[in-house]
Amino acid sequence: MNEIWNPEYETMSRESLRELQFKRLQMTLRWVYENVPFHRERWTALKLKPGDIRSLEDIVKLPFTAKSDLKAASPYGLFALPLEKVVRIHSASSTISDPAVVGYSRGDLNTWSELCARAAVAGGARSHDVAQICFEYGLTTGAFGMHAGLERVGATVIPASTGNTRRQLQIMRDFRTTVLVGTPSYALHLQEVAPGLGFDFRDLSVRVAILGSEPWTNELREELERRSGMSAIDIYGLSEVLGPGMSFECWNKDGLHVNEDHFLVEVIDPDSGEPVPEGKEGELVFTSLTKEALPVIRYRTGDLASLSRRPCACGRTFARHTKVLARTDDMLVLGGVNVYPASAEAVLLDLEGVEPNYRIILYTEEGLDKMEIQIAVDSSFFSDTVRKLQNFQRHVEERMHQELGIRPRVRLVEPRSLPRGSDARSRLIDNRKGVGRGQSGTLPRR
Ligand SMILES: [Zn+2]
Repeated sequence: MNEIWNPEYETMSRESLRELQFKRLQMTLRWVYENVPFHRERWTALKLKPGDIRSLEDIVKLPFTAKSDLKAASPYGLFALPLEKVVRIHSASSTISDPAVVGYSRGDLNTWSELCARAAVAGGARSHDVAQICFEYGLTTGAFGMHAGLERVGATVIPASTGNTRRQLQIMRDFRTTVLVGTPSYALHLQEVAPGLGFDFRDLSVRVAILGSEPWTNELREELERRSGMSAIDIYGLSEVLGPGMSFECWNKDGLHVNEDHFLVEVIDPDSGEPVPEGKEGELVFTSLTKEALPVIRYRTGDLASLSRRPCACGRTFARHTKVLARTDDMLVLGGVNVYPASAEAVLLDLEGVEPNYRIILYTEEGLDKMEIQIAVDSSFFSDTVRKLQNFQRHVEERMHQELGIRPRVRLVEPRSLPRGSDARSRLIDNRKGVGRGQSGTLPRR
């Protein structure tokens, strides 16, 4: 059970690790200073040069990078390599029209698959496994990262992508899938609908589920494991920094090991920006130590967790962060897609004939988190033909899908059925079962 993909790095002493981190940090800072005007100009304004960072702790002298910086520089403004040397593009985004573009050199792809291989092996995947990947193969990073990592391990990879649940279950049964990769909500969905489609999940061969892309609780893990006798592990990553494989759980399931030979991780107070003591919750901040095409310097993830450097029973020496269950902002993750309520509002306000009076309701259906948007329309609206109302609903759904990448259910309601003059936060009602249970506006803090 306790196999380690790359023991040389994953179990190196903390002292050697810090030395390696500092050496790689210096290289990264010089690389960035020479090749990315955005960072050079900001450091110069603070009278800082790479040589002024004389220890790992000195990193706090450098300014943070935010998602807004990535978007402002989109598509290629923060790249440290010419496009000629960039072999892959992905995108991290909450809206299609406002993307944060990320790029990878050949070396970056090699690093990425190595880190995903570590995550896969820590979760229990081996070369004899048949791995079915149910992340979407597209601009987002989930599918491609774990695909490459599992191939590197030697597993047989099935790029099943998302959707078509019956076909997914058929593949699982006929191809004898042993490792399932996807979002936790989709894993639960598969388990819940299997009996109705004539499948018994317990008769399938799935042994390990490697799940990520959205917050999920230990309670959901217990439920998934109880229902099918598989082991479910959490992986973490965000496209802006690399993608999946940045950190991962081992069999111990007590925090996610950060691949610290490739990332310097900090936890800061989201308000003051100051570092918080070990064990205290704050915002995760990542600096890449080996990335070539798009190095990231003190990238603020918006994800809340605490960090521990206590030794782990698995033997890995990499620090662990707690499961990410909450955010500093109001970003929601629905079916692995990042959505900001403000983006949904922007789409609504852009529609003709819609009052800025709406309510967003999050709910869970067949194990999947979904969004319903209730829009208040003038009572004269309801005197229109049913067809006209349906067309309008479909139009809103389509616009939401184009802009946000999710397809919410749209309901038209009379103005008086919605609370008047409420702020954005109270317009959001979270009835989801898995994570946001009964909370309004934000995911629960641990
Ligand atoms: Zn461990």
